[in-house]
Amino acid sequence: MQAPDFWRLSGFLLAGLVIGALTSATGWCLFFATLIYALTVQSDLNRLLAWVRQHKKNEPPEQAGVFEELTLEIDYLRERHKKRKKKLGSYLKQFQQATRALPDATVILDANDEVRWANDAAKRDLRIRWPEDVGQRVTNLVREPRMRKYIEAKFESGDHTIEIENPADPERQLSVLVVPYGNNQRILVARDVTQLHRANQIRGDFVANVSHELRTPLTVFRGYLETISNQQELAPEAWRSAVEQMTVHAERMGSLVEQLLLLSSLEAEVCVPQPEIVRVADLCAEIHSRASELPDGKDRLFSLEIDGDLAVMGSRAELYDALSNLVFNAVHYTKAKGVIKIRWFRDEQDAVFEVEDDGIGISAEHIPRLTERFYRVESSRHRADSTSGSGLGLSIAKHALARHSAQLSITSEPGAGSTFTVRFPESQICQTDSAEWNQRDAG
Ligand code: ADP
Repeated sequence: MQAPDFWRLSGFLLAGLVIGALTSATGWCLFFATLIYALTVQSDLNRLLAWVRQHKKNEPPEQAGVFEELTLEIDYLRERHKKRKKKLGSYLKQFQQATRALPDATVILDANDEVRWANDAAKRDLRIRWPEDVGQRVTNLVREPRMRKYIEAKFESGDHTIEIENPADPERQLSVLVVPYGNNQRILVARDVTQLHRANQIRGDFVANVSHELRTPLTVFRGYLETISNQQELAPEAWRSAVEQMTVHAERMGSLVEQLLLLSSLEAEVCVPQPEIVRVADLCAEIHSRASELPDGKDRLFSLEIDGDLAVMGSRAELYDALSNLVFNAVHYTKAKGVIKIRWFRDEQDAVFEVEDDGIGISAEHIPRLTERFYRVESSRHRADSTSGSGLGLSIAKHALARHSAQLSITSEPGAGSTFTVRFPESQICQTDSAEWNQRDAG
C-alpha cells in the first residue's frame, strides 16, 4: 500500500474510532468511516475512468497514492502509443508515396482476390482506381480470360508470369506477376513490356524472313547438287569429294532453315489452332520404329512402358516433333548397346512422357541453357563436328510443349545418362479406349 493511501485509510478509521468513543457507538462509526473511505476510492476510480475514456489529450486528474501512479503510467503509455502511431503513419505515408511513384502497376489483393490498394500506374495500365475500386475482385476489373485463369491458379511461388494486352491500350503489352505474401495476401505487379515484345517480334520476323528467303535458293542449289551426284559424268573425279561435302552442308543448311521456320511459326501463336485427340502411344510406336531403324550400327536396346489409353489434346505434328526430338537425342548421345527407356504414364496429377538414356550425360552448368536456340554442349566439347545437330531441337520441343501447357524438365549426370521428362497437366489429358480406337483405325 502506498503511503498516501495508508494515511487516508488510517485517518478515516481514526476519525471513526474518536467519534465512536464520544458517542459510544464505535461499531457504527467504524462502519461509516470505512463506507466513506470506499466511496472516496470509488470516486477516484470514476475520475480515472472518465479521463481514460477521453480521446483527446486532457490533463490527468489530480490524485494521490496508487491512483496517481496509475494515472502517470497510463499517461506515459498513451504518449508512447501516440508517438509510435505517428512514426508508423509517417512510414506508411513514405511507403505509399514510394509505391505510388513506381512505374509498374502495383495492386495489393486479399485472400478473395479483392483489391485492397493500388498505385497510380495501376489506374493508368489496368484501370484499377484506389480507393474507388477497393473490395472489387481484380478479375472483374481486368476482364481477360488468361488473367482470370492465372489469378485463379493461385501459384505459390512468384516465378510464373503471363503477358496480356494492356486493357487501357491494346497496342501495348503487360507482363503480369503475382507474388503471395503475408497472411493470404498477394501483390500483383504489371510491367509494360511493349519494347521488349516489339524487339522480339522484329527478331522473330527477321529470322523468319531470312529463313524464307534462303529456302528457295537452297532448294535450287540442292537440286543441282543431287543431279550432279546422280550423274557421275557431270562431275570430274577431282570434284567428287567437293560435291559430296557441298551436299552434306547444303542438307544441313536446308534442315536448319526448316527448323528456324518451324520455330518462328511456333512462336507466332501461343495456342494450338485446332487441337485434336492425340494418342501418344501411337506416336511412341512411330518414333520407336524410326529410332530403332537408324543405320548407325550402334544396336541400342529400347524399353517401352506405354499406357495405351492415355491421350492428350493438341497437335499431332507438333507433339511428334517435340517427343521424337527427345528420343532421337537419347539415341544420338548414347553409345553402342546403350539402353533407352521410354515411358508414358499417368501419376497423381499429370500425364508424363519420359525418355531415359544411359549415354554421355550433361554436366549441370549446361542444363538450364539446353532449350536456348542454337545452344549445344558439343560446341564446347568439339567444335570440329559441324555436321551434327543444330542446337534448335530442344528449343523447338520446349515451344511446342508450352503450346500444350506441358513442362519439360531435365536431369542428367555426366557419364551416367540423362532423363527428359514432359508433364502434361490435367487440363490437356483425355482418356481413350484403345480397343475401340484400334477398331476405329481398322474401319
Ligand atoms: P541438337 O540438334 O544439337 O541435338 P538439341 O537442341 O536437340 O540440339 O540439343 C541441345 C544439346 O543438348 C545437344 O547439342 C546436346 O549437347 C545436349 N543433349 C540433348 N539431349 C541429350 C542427351 N540425351 N544426352 C546428352 N546430351 C544431350
